[in-house]
Amino acid sequence: MTRGDDIQLHTLIKEARMQQVTINSERLWQSLMALGKIGEQDNGGMYRPALSPEDQQAREWLVSQMESMGLEVKVDGALNVIGRLKSQSPKTEQVVAMGSHIDTVPNGGKFDGAYGVLAALECVKSLQENQVTLPFDVEVISFCDEEAAHNAGTVGSRAMMGRLLPGELEKAKIKGEKPFRYFLEQLGHSFAAVETAQRNADEFLCFLEAHIEQGKVLESRQQSIGVVTGIVGVYRYIVTVTGEAAHAGTTPMSMRKDALVEAAPVFTLIPQWVHEQNPDMVGTIGQVTVLPGASNVVPKECRFLVELRSQQSQDMQVVRDKLINYANLRHGWNIETIYEKDSVVLDDHMISCLSVVTEAAQLPYITMASGAGHDAQSFAPSVPTGMIFIPCLAGVSHNPKEWITEEDASNGCQVLMDAVRHLATQV
Ligand SMILES: [Zn+2]
Repeated sequence: MTRGDDIQLHTLIKEARMQQVTINSERLWQSLMALGKIGEQDNGGMYRPALSPEDQQAREWLVSQMESMGLEVKVDGALNVIGRLKSQSPKTEQVVAMGSHIDTVPNGGKFDGAYGVLAALECVKSLQENQVTLPFDVEVISFCDEEAAHNAGTVGSRAMMGRLLPGELEKAKIKGEKPFRYFLEQLGHSFAAVETAQRNADEFLCFLEAHIEQGKVLESRQQSIGVVTGIVGVYRYIVTVTGEAAHAGTTPMSMRKDALVEAAPVFTLIPQWVHEQNPDMVGTIGQVTVLPGASNVVPKECRFLVELRSQQSQDMQVVRDKLINYANLRHGWNIETIYEKDSVVLDDHMISCLSVVTEAAQLPYITMASGAGHDAQSFAPSVPTGMIFIPCLAGVSHNPKEWITEEDASNGCQVLMDAVRHLATQV
């Protein structure tokens, strides 16, 4: 901590003594369990992919929660749910926004995303209950399709920050599946309205996201809070290698144009390029499709998904360029970009604010980078953005076994609340 942080900390402890506002951890847990019923499966896991009937039901549940609190509620063109608590004595028009997402991966858990939305909502409930007057409005936002159900993820938060790529919502994740646009229209919404979700970055004083860690670092180091310093970048591509289908019995090896064999060397080259570039970087080929896909036909097409992640966008660019060069030297190769999300560094002032309030609450914490993408990533390049992690059991996530303790949930929510109140002293 710097001397500045130290002074901040003492001011904060003084503030806290004057008026402690404690969040209601029991109520937070009850709302987590209530939302966890929507799309719950027999094994306890969640099925609530974006734009599914379950996701729609969860959105309606959230809207009714916000309405019953008297918030100004809006569902925007990208199906983000926004609940706004108006300030009684505003000193700025800028809003403090907090949130995450309520969609899940198929067979996911109850806390990924939902925790951030409901912790933010609990903060607002506690602010109302304690009649705390803030100098700014506060928004709770639940972003649509963070989990990439239909192609690229963080759709709602990127729509809000104007970061969607042209045409990406009209592309399916896998050939033959339906794109985001289809499901949106099925729900009776206009595709053209998605762009109306875009807002000016100047509207936001800051954006704060609380999330489960989805890793084991906090648990293994017995820390209550992780203050996030940066979020890993993610680049994804579909590579298609075209060969020629032929009879597997009658076509000699020398006369084949086998698409799988042509593609195969790159499956080991990519991990090699990644490792050479940066030992902390990761690269994955998570899906390979071979067509027509029969034991007696030489593959005519091999299609695979390449994903690169790094704290340094530059590293991902180097490996991507190696892949492009490799493909350019050969026949029948095509590389399509699904998306390129650059790594981001979170705001210093937000990192310091979150660290200081965590310290004042006497919770053990560390600063750390996030290896998973989050909605905060969409905000970070243009809005001062902060993020905290709470531990999750054994680091398990995207899994029915995903779990957190009531105490950790409560701690993260309190940190969020204290951060908002601390920010209020600086306006
Ligand atoms: Zn998430």
